[in-house]
Amino acid sequence: LHLPLRRRRFLPPVRCLQKSQPSLLRHLTSKLKATGPITVAEYMREVLTNPVAGYYVRNNMLGPDGDFITSPEISQIFGELLGVWIISEWMGAGRPKQLQLVELGPGKGSLASDVLRVFSQLRSVLGETSVSLHLVEVSPALSLIQAQNLTRDCSQEAVSEDELVYRRGTTAAGLPVFWYRRLDDVPAGFSICVAHEFFDALPIHKFQRTQKGWREVMVDIDPDKPDKLRFVVAPSPTMASSTLIQADERRDHVEVCAEGGSVVQQLSRRITEDGGAALIADYGHDGTKTDTFRSFKGHQLHDVLSNPGSADLTADVDFSYLRRKAGGGVACLGPVSQRTFLKNMGIDTRMQVNISIRSKTIYSQDMFVSRVFYLESQRTTFLYTASGDLRRKNHRLKSAISAEKVYKVSDLVFN
Ligand code: SAH
Repeated sequence: LHLPLRRRRFLPPVRCLQKSQPSLLRHLTSKLKATGPITVAEYMREVLTNPVAGYYVRNNMLGPDGDFITSPEISQIFGELLGVWIISEWMGAGRPKQLQLVELGPGKGSLASDVLRVFSQLRSVLGETSVSLHLVEVSPALSLIQAQNLTRDCSQEAVSEDELVYRRGTTAAGLPVFWYRRLDDVPAGFSICVAHEFFDALPIHKFQRTQKGWREVMVDIDPDKPDKLRFVVAPSPTMASSTLIQADERRDHVEVCAEGGSVVQQLSRRITEDGGAALIADYGHDGTKTDTFRSFKGHQLHDVLSNPGSADLTADVDFSYLRRKAGGGVACLGPVSQRTFLKNMGIDTRMQVNISIRSKTIYSQDMFVSRVFYLESQRTTFLYTASGDLRRKNHRLKSAISAEKVYKVSDLVFN
């Protein structure tokens, strides 16, 4: 399979922290011997989230000493601007008395921490609103790091593994924080959800157009080297190849993240029933790319099938697929480039306060941002205009908010 050369993540190569984890390869080869080839989705799920040896479950992979680095780890400005976006959405929704901030795949908790700093700065705007933070995180190791960053070690693990909330704590400002394994477990209520570099970690199915029709790409043991894995093409249609390809598909190779589609369906349902908005930021495309499945180790491209569990696996997010899955009950905006989104959110002004090379780096990241809203309200995000104001784009609603104070990014005091 062709691997694109574009690097998803950067920084020079550094010492690789993770030792090889032959147990996951052993587990996979014995499974393959017993059941035959597995789908790429199953391979990705096992490698990333196997409860004992999965890459995300075992490792702290973020940062210069890890395998990759992300915008929130590069600069606090990214999370701060998202904090402004969240508050503007909450205001646009009529300032509900309860605001659940939900983050999918929070990494080290840096994004949430930067968002909450903006919440503290705008405490007078939030007034008596009851704000809570809900983190969906599969990795117990990362949840601990998140807890250290967000609750200063004041968090408690659940006594029983059956509890939906597996950790809980309180931030220094007194906001309750809850950890869940799945979005389904987060309680109903008005929620604003952010997912940064989360969807690209969800398992994808891969399909190849052949003379006999679409066939699924599978993972099998290499017959010549029993401790090596290889890709094979299924000889006949699989459940996924029969159901996940669009009838008018023109590409010859397609990746479909069914799990990502189901997460977006859940988000849409929540937004339709309880109100709210979601923002998805990730490396991605709009239904045009083909083979994007790749692996990173120590900030370098790595063979996706070698030494499973020791390196990150990722695939670009197909935003056209997510939009289809969101359905007609919500409005989807974007994707737009991260650069455009940050520009509209006022990064230029913010950077005048704290100009750094790191801030410029997030500005130039080759990423997409997409938003999902409740359709009826037709709300749009605040746009940053040349005059320096944050103004509402939707003029129909303008009169309704004319009495509100309009905040400028430059008004906010950041630490
Ligand atoms: N959002 C962070 C981290 C990105 S890495 C940032 O931008 O810095 C991906 C994150 O998603 C990690 O926290 C990882 O543990 C989590 N994750 C990956 N797969 C997951 C899954 N299936 N369910 C919940 N969390 C998952």
